[in-house]
Amino acid sequence: SIVVTGATGHLGRLVVEQLLEKVPAGQVTAVVRDESRAADLAARGVRLAVADYNAPETFDGLFSAGDKVLLISGNEFAKGRVQQHKVVIEAARAAGVALLAYTSAPASLTASLADDHRGTEEALLASGLPYALLRNGWYHENYTEQLGTVLEHGAVVAAAGEGRLSSAARADYAAAAVAVLTGEGHENKTYELGGDEAWSFAEYAAEISRQTGKEIRYTPVSTEQYAAILTGAGVPGPFAEMLANVDAAIAEGELEVTTGDLSRLAGRPTTPLADAIAVALKG
Ligand code: NDP
Repeated sequence: SIVVTGATGHLGRLVVEQLLEKVPAGQVTAVVRDESRAADLAARGVRLAVADYNAPETFDGLFSAGDKVLLISGNEFAKGRVQQHKVVIEAARAAGVALLAYTSAPASLTASLADDHRGTEEALLASGLPYALLRNGWYHENYTEQLGTVLEHGAVVAAAGEGRLSSAARADYAAAAVAVLTGEGHENKTYELGGDEAWSFAEYAAEISRQTGKEIRYTPVSTEQYAAILTGAGVPGPFAEMLANVDAAIAEGELEVTTGDLSRLAGRPTTPLADAIAVALKG
């Protein structure tokens, strides 16, 4: 079986969707916390398994020998994601899965956000399991989902200076994951994944202007100012700080990925940022 955790998340849904274009539904297992949110998948013949990273016993017997597993990193920062991911790795090891692929972060990213990914990678390598590290760069959607705020203020606000980053659509990263799960020869490989074209926030603002006919500026701010803006908008302090530090990392070029691994795995160019903006503007 091909088993996908986080299957009701944004990325997980795209992975399952794209898997169903390549393999029979009966070969796909979606690991979910809430079965009712995956009823559409069950109706299409996808097997559901209910499990929670916080409850190790829910993973007992979930995997079978020979499975190919995609562990999608969780989003509960306060709950200790390395420990959560270790629960999945340990269950996969006990079952003897054929491959455990993990959605990590680029090696170049030093921001604290990457710490959980480094810790999980270490646990995965220590497990002795055949692994694939999908070191995902940033999503276009991290930005395009904020377009409403940008249009409201007439400005793109970030603490990234003139830094460039190579983001790609979630669907691109899903395609890479599907290639690894359905293809051969990905055991013990590490992929540095990012969009084909790096962009700066000034270019992002200019592209939004072009598409909307409105004047949108890039307003660079300091990391301290940016953290304060986020906190003011209701983002909890520690998370705001973490996001501001990611911007500082972008300023240093830490989210620029030049390997070409993503388009190579997906078998096509990555989605241009301009396309993601157009999709978001259509709403
Ligand atoms: P989502 O927040 O949409 O999905 C996260 C998934 O993790 C959900 O399916 C969620 O389950 C699942 N999950 C969280 N906690 C647990 C738990 N305790 N037990 C079982 N499942 C759990 O994020 P995306 O799909 O957009 O991205 C996937 C991951 O990539 C994120 O979780 C995060 O680690 C990372 N990320 C990467 C970004 C990037 O730019 N590269 C940006 C943002 C996040 P449920 O559906 O039940 O809520």
